[in-house]
Amino acid sequence: MQGICLLGATGSIGQSTLDIIAQHPEKFELISVSANESVEKMATICLRFKPQRAVMGSKKARDELAKQCEGLPTSFEWGDEALESIVADSAVDQVMAAIMGFAGLRPTLAAIRAGKRILLANKESLVTAGKLFMDEVEQHKVMLLPIDSEHNAIYQSLPQTSLGAHQKDVSKIILTASGGPFRTWSLQEMASVTPAQACKHPNWSMGQKISIDSATLMNKGLELIEACWLFGVTPDEVDVVVHPESIIHSMVSYIDGSVISQMGNPDMKIPIAYGMTWPDRVETQVPALNLVDVAKLHFESPDLERFPNLKLAADAWFMGGTAMAILNAANEVAVDAFLQGNIDFLDIAKLNEKVLSSVDAVSVSALDDVFEADLVARRFAQDVISRGSSL
Ligand code: NAD
Ligand code: MG
Repeated sequence: MQGICLLGATGSIGQSTLDIIAQHPEKFELISVSANESVEKMATICLRFKPQRAVMGSKKARDELAKQCEGLPTSFEWGDEALESIVADSAVDQVMAAIMGFAGLRPTLAAIRAGKRILLANKESLVTAGKLFMDEVEQHKVMLLPIDSEHNAIYQSLPQTSLGAHQKDVSKIILTASGGPFRTWSLQEMASVTPAQACKHPNWSMGQKISIDSATLMNKGLELIEACWLFGVTPDEVDVVVHPESIIHSMVSYIDGSVISQMGNPDMKIPIAYGMTWPDRVETQVPALNLVDVAKLHFESPDLERFPNLKLAADAWFMGGTAMAILNAANEVAVDAFLQGNIDFLDIAKLNEKVLSSVDAVSVSALDDVFEADLVARRFAQDVISRGSSL
């Protein structure tokens, strides 16, 4: 029996994780859950799974949740300290890091320090804290399993040696991208898209922020950096290939000319279950892949002119230090502003570019450097938006 702490339980990854837990009650026990504000969804989860601890983002949300779940043995808590404490409970074996954005960094690091198996969906924590994150993984000898479908596919296509170290005999990592909902749109057409259009991903059902990131290709930029940290490579050793069907989830190309890939229907339950049961596998109720029905798979190069975020991510990697935290912070502010209707879709990449080129990156010697860079970049980005200065 594996005890699970699920961070970000009310989100898209959270719900798929709950689905796997519910399918295999003999294998998994939900020990603790967290969410930011969604009291209703959290109440449903608590009433169904009766976890030992539930953490909300604010006292108000905690109080409402406790009221809705009266009579349950669950301890209802709130705030950062509680979040960093639930990951370390002795009953917890695995922590699913599925909080959205930079907010996931502290609890994910706390889970690493507590020596738990880390199921990493929260790519922003690895992108921003990169080397420090991987150093902690090594120091605490934790098992880190990538849940992002592409990285999970790469992991499945590599010999199972340690993460972080350059993999022997690999010539390239081929990171696939769906291309998002605007893959074939001109810049002019993209200029006036709405949040609803941008959130409508052709293949995957996901949270709002990652859906927008997929539409701007920032998601692939973040994933490029994520792949570099996870697999010990540089952006020069990663080819991004647009594959609109999202059937091949990524590939590894070897020096002898072999290319190994992992395929499947696009459903996050597959990589989630893989992480939770590795090195075994379990049923997920995801329909089997029918290649005759799929019939055709397509591939093309990404267009960096229409989707400059991908290039910005590679630039940030080569700039090093806090550059990746700066870019991530700019992007979180930009996506939020777009969702609020305060900037246009194409302004997201423009704002990212402006922040990355204006805020100085410094080398990272401690976690505080990352938090400071995040704060400065956020303030700068918010300032640009509120001044309404042209991008
Ligand atoms: P989501 O928006 O659906 O859910 C986010 C969860 O995090 C919610 O439970 C929310 O309450 C919580 N949360 C949000 N802000 C928070 C904060 N400030 N403090 C504490 N909790 C907070 O997001 P999602 O689509 O499930 O994605 C979660 C993470 O997984 C992201 O990092 C995303 O990039 C990554 N990911 C998601 C998918 C996917 O298919 N959805 C695929 C790969 C990777
Ligand atoms: Mg992905």
